Amino acid sequence: MFAIDHAATALLIKRGFPSVPMTPILISVQAMEFAWVALNYLGIEQTTTEPTVGSVADIHLAYMPYSHSVGTPIVAALAAWLVIEKGFGRAALGRAIGLGIISHLILDLLTHAPDIALWPGLASPKLGLGLYEAAPFSAFIVELVYGIMCWGVYRASRGLLAVIVLGNLANLSFFSPAIPGPELYLAGRPMLIVTLILVQIVVTLPLVGVFARGTAVKSSAPSAAVK
Ligand SMILES: [Zn+2]
Repeated sequence: MFAIDHAATALLIKRGFPSVPMTPILISVQAMEFAWVALNYLGIEQTTTEPTVGSVADIHLAYMPYSHSVGTPIVAALAAWLVIEKGFGRAALGRAIGLGIISHLILDLLTHAPDIALWPGLASPKLGLGLYEAAPFSAFIVELVYGIMCWGVYRASRGLLAVIVLGNLANLSFFSPAIPGPELYLAGRPMLIVTLILVQIVVTLPLVGVFARGTAVKSSAPSAAVK
């Protein structure tokens, strides 16, 4: 799933844990991707492309057993939950962060080509419903609808809806070979892909956080007026 919709997932989690600050939730929903970016830069995980890149189907997340296996985010989420809830007594924070980490795994399993191993070192099976490969434009619709659903559940501002819709539209060319876009320049340049995704993460997380804050202030206005 693309960065804007992982970021939008933070709205769902914030709705369930309103007392937890938005920043740790936002970081948790992209924790797997931050690990993927770092491990690609370090040369430990690898990304490849077809000779030409017309859509997301031509970009292959060829080797990412540490950041994107089924097991590692589950272990990371359990560890975060145990340390934060049992160690520091911050139950809501621990649960929200654990859920945030797991949310990324679930959303990637729904959209990715079968490129997610069960555990580092296990070559097969690899999981992923394959939406990006089989029906990239359907993936675009699924991601857009999902992002809007997150917005609706949070009962957020129209500004946040605009961020989510525009954030999805910005990726449109990646979902259809018929629509030219920046992906044309990504062929054979895996580090550029990693950097592009890092930029998307560091742009979308604060945008969702800032616009969600506006919503929270508005919805808490009646109680603030009491004092
Ligand atoms: Zn991911």
